Amino acid sequence: MAKWGKLSYAQKKCVSTVGMLMQKTEMVKEGSRIGIAVSGGVDSFVLIRTMLIRQAILPFNIELIVLHVNPGFEPESHSPLTKWCSENGVASHIELTQYGPRAHSPENKNKSACFYCSRLRRKRLFELCEQYDLTHLALGHTADDLVITFHMNMMQNGRIQGLSASEPFFKGKLQLIRPTLMLEKKYIKAAARQWELPVWANNCPSNDNTKRSETLQWLEEEWRRNPRTRNNTFNALRRWQLDLNMKTT
Ligand code: SF4
Repeated sequence: MAKWGKLSYAQKKCVSTVGMLMQKTEMVKEGSRIGIAVSGGVDSFVLIRTMLIRQAILPFNIELIVLHVNPGFEPESHSPLTKWCSENGVASHIELTQYGPRAHSPENKNKSACFYCSRLRRKRLFELCEQYDLTHLALGHTADDLVITFHMNMMQNGRIQGLSASEPFFKGKLQLIRPTLMLEKKYIKAAARQWELPVWANNCPSNDNTKRSETLQWLEEEWRRNPRTRNNTFNALRRWQLDLNMKTT
């Protein structure tokens, strides 16, 4: 038996869906040095677990490092991640910031705390990629994020845009990748529970109080009224996004 043990249906779904996307978009190659951005929620924790399995399956070598930027609401919240990384032999960089409280202070002239906080966090992650000489930064966005982002962009910004599975930054020096982009959250939640990943809740006051959560509620109401539209929406947007990415590979 493989060293990660027997996998459940949801766990296999995570590993195979991530593998399919990595292969179709030629996401990584020999020598790729990948930073995995981890927030502590189910999505990014399953991303680490799945990437570790993919690393063992791939016929070439890649390196992984966990990057966690604590937004500063609970200075100790990341301690389960520190322990998990050390027990599982994964390199990590974990640091405490004040990005969350700063985004909710007068320093933030922008209306959206999340916009400001995410910008600071993204900038720091890019700096860490440079510091560790990384070739890739992996984010834990899911198919659910793709569907929500697509609708937000269309309805609020008047443009058709999803989330790319793989896109270059800094003239190609860094590739931003989303290995779990084709995977539905329901499998991620089940797999996280079965792997007993020590996820923790984000206790930021803006959590679940954003335009994203409003858009999700709006979509869920529609899906409740007409359940068939949920699968159709997910399948259509996954196919569309994958086609776009394969054209640019
Ligand atoms: S929910 Fe809070 S921690 Fe998360 S991005 Fe928004 S402001 Fe930052």
